[in-house]
Amino acid sequence: MPQETIFSKIIRKEIPADIVYQDDLVTAFRDISPQANTHILIIPNKLIPTVNDVTTEDEIALGRLFTVAAKIAEQEGIAEDGYRLIVNCNKHGGQEVFHLHMHLVGGEPLGRMLAK
Ligand code: 5GP
Repeated sequence: MPQETIFSKIIRKEIPADIVYQDDLVTAFRDISPQANTHILIIPNKLIPTVNDVTTEDEIALGRLFTVAAKIAEQEGIAEDGYRLIVNCNKHGGQEVFHLHMHLVGGEPLGRMLAK
């Protein structure tokens, strides 16, 4: 069994978070340390540690991440100007929390894709 992270507690509402959306498959909440005017994390309710652990069984939940991202972007008023969706994996990807998550960032120009 993979080790739970703080995100499982957020899903179960055992610790506070600014949840903007939740359904049977995914939960979305504002990042505690926003890197842009809008920075929301969208996560599967099922604990999948990294993209490397994804299976075909997860396709519906992971597809839901995108439909929810589009819905939230519309609600946040950033859909037309655009935004960026980021999924980090492991050390080189800069992943810090090992519960797969999609970052939705926007609300301002985001610059080049990779800072090097
Ligand atoms: P990663 O680097 O793993 O892709 O991103 C993890 C993200 O989770 C970071 O942007 C970090 O600010 C956010 N984060 C970590 N702990 C918490 C928390 O307890 N609450 C919220 N809302 N965000 C968190």
